[in-house]
Amino acid sequence: MNARTNALDGKHAVVTGGGSGIGAAIAHALAGAGARVTLIGRDAEKLEAQRQALGTAQPTHCEAADVTRPEAVERAFASATATLGPVDILVNNAGQAQAAPFGKTDLGLWQRMLDVNLTGTFLCTQAALPAMIERGFGRIVNVASTAGQIGYPYVAAYCAAKHGVIGLTRSLALEIATTGVTVNAVCPGYTETPLLQESLDQVIAKTGRTASDARAALQRANPQRRFIEPDEVAHAVLWLLMPESRSITGQSISISGGEVM
Ligand code: NAD
Repeated sequence: MNARTNALDGKHAVVTGGGSGIGAAIAHALAGAGARVTLIGRDAEKLEAQRQALGTAQPTHCEAADVTRPEAVERAFASATATLGPVDILVNNAGQAQAAPFGKTDLGLWQRMLDVNLTGTFLCTQAALPAMIERGFGRIVNVASTAGQIGYPYVAAYCAAKHGVIGLTRSLALEIATTGVTVNAVCPGYTETPLLQESLDQVIAKTGRTASDARAALQRANPQRRFIEPDEVAHAVLWLLMPESRSITGQSISISGGEVM
């Protein structure tokens, strides 16, 4: 698909975790298609640098907020709406992945994974959805993971959270199907980002493997034997935002070289 460069003209898109990796690639794609983009994340400096790098003629904005904190989310969406208008598009991308054997998964790790990956998605969706329904249009895309579609060892908490994101996506899509708002999930396999590098560092530290062995071990999960590029995920998100994608809702689209089918 070649997204028309003006396909999102006039739309206000919020991307959480937009300061790096997949979120930054999505923000670039949306700005390139004409959207006014708000980046939400924890690190104000990183967000501002990314906002400037968008290099678009459209107005852009950023809000420093932790998506796990209800009052911070409420404040960020109120300020984003006051600055760039009602939110038409929400990409719930902020997330973290921490590995541990189940026996060493303490309540703190479990709660951190649920808070950022699942509760963050819930809170941002609650903040954006009422205005979408009121205006009869909205697009919500949740960046889940293949870990929301299948199990993996040593990441039970992350997998549980991402499976939860897919459950939320399906239920909400049905509940609001007649409102003009669609809700979908994209499910990347291992994608070349800072988060992947952290996972590789954990593998290297715990197993003593070399960097290239650790990369090869994770790449074996993908039938194409490669990592996904953030732009590939952004491309799928952009497609879901097009007016012609209005019949697609409640879906979990695997972007994984055929790892999940
Ligand atoms: P990343 O670390 O580059 O980006 C994650 C972003 O989320 C960062 O900018 C971070 O600051 C932000 N963030 C984290 N916790 C936050 C919080 N509490 N509040 C606000 N912002 C917060 O990693 P990425 O790989 O680009 O990850 C983006 C999404 O893609 C995540 O949801 C991740 O689970 C998912 N994902 C990544 C991969 C992969 O292999 N990289 C695979 C599947 C899914």
